[in-house]
Amino acid sequence: MSIYWNQRVKTLSPYIPGEQPRQGGFIKLNTNENPYPPSPKVIEAIQKAAGDDLRRYPDPACMELRSAIAHRYGVMPEQVFAGNGSDEVLAFAFAAFFESATGKQKALPILFPDITYSFYPVYAQLWDIPFRPVPLAADFSIIIEDYKQSAGGVVIPNPNAPTGRALSRSDLVSLFRFHEQDGEGASVALVDEAYAAFGKDLEVAPLIHEHPNLLTVHTLSKAASLAGLRVGFAIGNQELIEGLCRVRDSFNSYTVDQLAQAGAVAAILDAPYYEGVNQKVIATRNRVSAALPALGYEVIPSQGNFICIRALQKTGAQFFSFLREQGILVRHFDKRRIADFLRVSIGTEEEMDRFLEVCESYRAL
Ligand code: PMP
Repeated sequence: MSIYWNQRVKTLSPYIPGEQPRQGGFIKLNTNENPYPPSPKVIEAIQKAAGDDLRRYPDPACMELRSAIAHRYGVMPEQVFAGNGSDEVLAFAFAAFFESATGKQKALPILFPDITYSFYPVYAQLWDIPFRPVPLAADFSIIIEDYKQSAGGVVIPNPNAPTGRALSRSDLVSLFRFHEQDGEGASVALVDEAYAAFGKDLEVAPLIHEHPNLLTVHTLSKAASLAGLRVGFAIGNQELIEGLCRVRDSFNSYTVDQLAQAGAVAAILDAPYYEGVNQKVIATRNRVSAALPALGYEVIPSQGNFICIRALQKTGAQFFSFLREQGILVRHFDKRRIADFLRVSIGTEEEMDRFLEVCESYRAL
């Protein structure tokens, strides 16, 4: 606490990112990074962009990148927004579409799951947006009917994190419809598709044509192996995209640098490479998920590039420490209902073989 902090900063409880250890030697399964490298075309594009042009500002509109994304998703470039990682896009979306408690009208709370990406409550707090966490079912699935109530907006990650469970497209569509004609006025339904590429038929971005209140948020960090480049984007109707631009241009017009724009375009264009990489991740996830129950672990069925697991008879903290001692880093959320679970990102085949070996030895202890 400092006397120089304003009231807002004093009351924040910031997000705590997963550990990025300085020294090597760990099997790093704690931040849902892709275990495989980015497409060689991405590296080539970044190297090519690292030249004299760096003295210039990047294109603030990210036109080439937005066009590539638009082409891939069957939308118009005006329906795409690009930002510095999807965290930034999410922060802008919260600022642009959800009413703050200090606004003129009494704001309705926004809804998101009680167990979900822990940045959502942080953004809500940052912008003074009232929110109501909606409990997941006992099996950790999202009960879509619970979100069909008057609200300032809804935020649904699909698949959810850290559980990995996903909703069907038809469930989501019923939610968009509800909030298009919600009695208190229409509100935005934000679907965070950070992990959608690892699921089956989950992506809803093309549905923006039918649902003017739908905003999908995407990242190149996971499915495009580019967590270090910091590029995320949103797809939604033109009014929503303009709303995001208004927030960005009241903050920093150049959030996506030249190298990131060049690399991101190459990544979007090299879909076949990433199809291959992500199929491998999915196959490994399915293999590991199938192997763990016989070793004494509960596994929540996942459509992400991670699994959420519990060692029967052990606490999450004990299991976490054991894995760490064995050189395996995973994520533990010390929160109600999931404190005994660990989120384990899917690594390479070899890394996950070692992980399974360690899990087997833990059961034997
Ligand atoms: N949404 C979800 C659900 C996530 O898990 C993450 C990664 N921590 C993000 C968004 C943010 O990803 P990035 O900022 O790297 O694009």
